[in-house]
Amino acid sequence: MTADPRKVALIMALRNQGVRDMRVLEAIEKVPRELFVEQPFLDQAYADQPLPIDCGQTISQPFIVGLMTDRLQLEERHKVLEIGTGSGYQTAILAQLCRRVFTIERYRTLSRQAEERFRALKLNNITQLVADGMKGWPQLAPFDRIIVTAAAAQEVPPALLEQLAIGGIMIIPLEERPGKQDLYRITRTAKGYDQEHLLPVRFVPLVEGLAREI
Ligand code: SAH
Repeated sequence: MTADPRKVALIMALRNQGVRDMRVLEAIEKVPRELFVEQPFLDQAYADQPLPIDCGQTISQPFIVGLMTDRLQLEERHKVLEIGTGSGYQTAILAQLCRRVFTIERYRTLSRQAEERFRALKLNNITQLVADGMKGWPQLAPFDRIIVTAAAAQEVPPALLEQLAIGGIMIIPLEERPGKQDLYRITRTAKGYDQEHLLPVRFVPLVEGLAREI
């Protein structure tokens, strides 16, 4: 099988920008992003940019997906919670690298579309929920890793902090003031939480409650 040259170029660019974990790069190589983008943007599936999806949301930029996954330091035995399923692309990447992914989306439409993609790709270690991810998934806590793919206003939702295992890592974008978002890595220790700044980012907002759909 010949590799798509655009995909090869993208993976090299991600490596040069600091996505170092070979397993993460391999996962990006393996998951067909063209299955997760809308028809009009098919030719841009391997461009390093976010693209519009249904319900006014976006599929994240490959560099951001790679970086967030890299900094999560995933291990095979990990149980991961993702907030913001969206297209399911980030979910599919996570599913290559750990035991089980639990993913929450507030739009039923997006969750269903993602479910079809997971089925087509035979990804059997993903469990989906349509709910407000700001509340986390208390019945299944604690999680070894939590990844939030929408920007929380000012502070990390307390439920997510509570549901992170001791020794666990959370990656989350925070919008500290309007228009200014930064990605953080939070590590839970026996004593509390350490917060490390990663880089400025741009995500759609994390919105409370289920989405109204017609
Ligand atoms: N990882 C996704 C990113 C999608 S954009 C991808 O690569 O495709 C972020 C998603 O977060 C959107 O689909 C949005 O509907 C969802 N979202 C926002 N607030 C949420 C909440 N409180 N609970 C669950 N999902 C939420």
